[in-house]
Amino acid sequence: MMVEAFPICFFEQVPSQAGFTDRFGRKLTYLRISVTDRCNMRCDYCRPSADAYKAESHAQILRYEEIERIASVAASLGVTKIRITGGEPLVRRDLPQLIEKLSNISGITDLALSTNATLLGKYADDLVKAGLHRINVSIDSLNTLRFRKLTGGELAPVLAGIQAAKEAGLTPIKLNTVLMRGINDDEVAGLIDFASDIGATIRFIELMPMKQGLNWEKHYISIDEILKRDDVKERVDVDTALQTGNTAARYLPMKDASGEVGFIMPMSERFCEGCNRLRLTADGGLRSCLPADNQLNLRDLLRSGGSDDDIRAVFLRSALIKPEIGTYDFDSDTEKRSMIHIGG
Ligand code: SAM
Repeated sequence: MMVEAFPICFFEQVPSQAGFTDRFGRKLTYLRISVTDRCNMRCDYCRPSADAYKAESHAQILRYEEIERIASVAASLGVTKIRITGGEPLVRRDLPQLIEKLSNISGITDLALSTNATLLGKYADDLVKAGLHRINVSIDSLNTLRFRKLTGGELAPVLAGIQAAKEAGLTPIKLNTVLMRGINDDEVAGLIDFASDIGATIRFIELMPMKQGLNWEKHYISIDEILKRDDVKERVDVDTALQTGNTAARYLPMKDASGEVGFIMPMSERFCEGCNRLRLTADGGLRSCLPADNQLNLRDLLRSGGSDDDIRAVFLRSALIKPEIGTYDFDSDTEKRSMIHIGG
């Protein structure tokens, strides 16, 4: 559901260097920007079944100039961090050009990219030259056949892409693995070893019930259950209290002291209290909470001549309607509520 983005005059707020705040005092400093709802993989947990999924037409998707303008307004309100996501951002043509535009925006101090890494071998150097700071790579299995079945893609280019990113200096690299019972939950120890070997930090994410081709009830597994497993306890110091930072992930030290392992628990331990995020969908929806469907329409505002002040007012309104707690309503199972559509 796209809500009309009427400028609001009654909600005045003085922008500060440290972000603007919502009704619950949370400072909003982080904007995740989806640049496409297309992907060169077809992970079942991310999108509705292949037949049910339709990407937006190119005309519906924000142009780079439009994204740059929205990001500039966000920065003027105090947003300091931008993550580019999708779909798969690197399937969008000339992504380094957008990265360069965003890296030149005053106030943006952290510019990151989430990617499946398949095209990083081709683009890593250009992304660094354009001003990208760091990357997160999704990797859900190290088994070639399983990887293919799960993602519809190939593991080899992903590994080559991670290597290219390292060589290009896109470090520290973070790896993200969505945990799925009966699909890849037997690979936690192997993935921890892999991350340690390549000098990356791995984070395990609980499966969220978005609109997807995978049965959530059947495949959800909690981090708590994972931390009880012997092969995980051998590697990770599970007795240390989980460290919180200002991110969604909580970290535990590795037993051999070579680093830490992250756990993201959107289902078993909501991190809404510290949420500092807004999301911009590829088709120009401003969304202040991942599972809440009350997104505001920035694209139509821009294309009908809206001013920067009008855009700013939409950001403030988005903060105003950001729910205190994000709840996954299983009945509101609309097509557009898939991660590929919103931007992960
Ligand atoms: N294509 C890029 C990638 O592979 O990282 C960026 C987009 S992807 C949607 C971003 C993140 O969302 C990935 O880490 C993915 O694993 C996560 N994700 C997608 N659907 C999810 C779900 N149902 N539950 C938990 N995480 C999910």
